[in-house]
Amino acid sequence: MAAMAPPEPGVRVEPFDRFNRELVANVRPDGWVNPEPRGRYHLVVIGAGTGGLVTAAIAAGLGARVALVERHLMGGDCLNVGCVPSKGMIGAARSWQAAAESGRRFGGPAVAGGGQFAAAMERMRRLRAGISRVDGAGRFRDLGVDVFFGEGRFTSRDSVTVDGRVIRFWRAVIATGARAAVPSIAGLADTGYLTNDTVFNLTELPRRLLVLGAGPVGCEMAQAFARFGSEVTLLNQGDRILPRDDADAAAIVERAMTSHGVRLLHRCRVVRAQGRGEIRVLAVERDGQAESLEGDQLLVATGRTPHVEGLGLEAAGVAVDQRGVAVDDRLRTTNPRIFAVGDIGSRFRFTHAADAQARLVVANALFFGIGGGKASRLVIPWTTYTTPEVAHVGWSERDATAAGIGVDTITVPLHEVDRAVLDGQDEGFLRVHLRRRSDRILGATLVAEHAGDMIGEIALAMTAGLGLRKIGATVHPYPTQSEVFRKAADAWRRTRLTSPARAVFRAFFRLIG
Ligand SMILES: Cc1cc2nc3c(=O)[nH]c(=O)nc-3n(C[C@H](O)[C@H](O)[C@H](O)COP(=O)(O)OP(=O)(O)OC[C@H]3O[C@@H](n4cnc5c(N)ncnc54)[C@H](O)[C@@H]3O)c2cc1C
Repeated sequence: MAAMAPPEPGVRVEPFDRFNRELVANVRPDGWVNPEPRGRYHLVVIGAGTGGLVTAAIAAGLGARVALVERHLMGGDCLNVGCVPSKGMIGAARSWQAAAESGRRFGGPAVAGGGQFAAAMERMRRLRAGISRVDGAGRFRDLGVDVFFGEGRFTSRDSVTVDGRVIRFWRAVIATGARAAVPSIAGLADTGYLTNDTVFNLTELPRRLLVLGAGPVGCEMAQAFARFGSEVTLLNQGDRILPRDDADAAAIVERAMTSHGVRLLHRCRVVRAQGRGEIRVLAVERDGQAESLEGDQLLVATGRTPHVEGLGLEAAGVAVDQRGVAVDDRLRTTNPRIFAVGDIGSRFRFTHAADAQARLVVANALFFGIGGGKASRLVIPWTTYTTPEVAHVGWSERDATAAGIGVDTITVPLHEVDRAVLDGQDEGFLRVHLRRRSDRILGATLVAEHAGDMIGEIALAMTAGLGLRKIGATVHPYPTQSEVFRKAADAWRRTRLTSPARAVFRAFFRLIG
């Protein structure tokens, strides 16, 4: 195999400093020689993001002969251009904000002026490089996985080619993920824009940043850049941010983003994009008015498109649908030998969802489902890492009602939780949806500083079939923000106290004087 530095094709790893060199040395080692295929593999996995890595590691650990094919960087989006760098940046941006607010809010030292964006990004690259070893080619080789770098393509119902070699398989898993969807806007292709593939390469803070899209990626990045000191304008087609989440949750995040300096423009239609020298210009229509917006950088964050092209899916007899590769509830494609996990075929496009599906798919593919199961049984929470964070799990009230399920909803504002008040983090709430007249949890939304760390309690309850009553019977330490769960249980218990029951209690107390 030819030497590769920096790797091609696709994402460019920039700047190619010592941290990115360390990253690449782990996830796309220079001089890597693809192994000779070892006969027919029990399992071939295409794509070495979270879904592919977890699938390959578990299968190899159980003794299967496994080939893992990656065309670019092992670790996929999460490690290289997704969760890891974004949360590294967000961590830095939060601490900048805390420093800037310390004097005004807490009587702390007054901190004025900007920080060093380049240093914050270098920190992110250093941490990402450190984490990357776990996803690295060397580690997977040591686990007994045959790692092939190159484009994987099905040539028949039971074979794949990569790097000019034919690899035959008994079972295969497609885990090729997704990429940034780019909207069709006149002039955009020639304007020069960032996506998640390139935004983490920045070493200079854009003075003015235009962000297209108000989903989780757009909101997280807009808020982080605003906290670093960019003038951020976020353009949204809809009426509100985070359209998949509870409207009240989105409203709180929207207020926080605005207070951090993000200019939010709803009901925006971008008519044309244009590059003028180093400047990006967007012609926009909003509420019937034409407007022109300028930025030094433009970030496109308008959703994800599955990587289905070039995979030879027709040759393999694998059908696609509007989500990507079509799978049944056991994650099997239309070719019973071939399965799919992660962003390529799931409505839950999260790392932990890809991981959870991978754990199922090994059993479903290799052991005829023994020890596996149905993807629909997984309880999958998600979190948007704005400040405050929005975490959700299970049904929304709207979807449950539309499905004909009766819902009771309990909401506890965070200003009723002492710790949230004391920390100055009381803009938020917990909203729990229960099956009508029962304590069975259908879903919940939590808006809190660290909602993502807290939502696991509800996810556990839902997975284990524990109702809100059991959460109420669980002693939570005081003062913590997790007391909000017990308060929701208390609120539910109060709703259970019917008028006849109250009358009985009153009579009892009258009796004993
Ligand atoms: C900016 C951003 C932030 C995010 N933050 C979070 C977060 O905080 N938490 C969270 O849970 N999720 C987050 N996500 C989503 C998360 O990154 C994805 O859900 C996760 O990476 C999906 O894993 P996957 O294995 O399905 O696909 P991927 O990680 O996309 O991996 C697919 C791999 O397949 C390879 N590939 C594609 N085609 C071929 C081929 N033909 N041959 C060989 N290899 C191929 C690709 O190169 C890639 O390495 C974020 C995403 C973005 C973009």
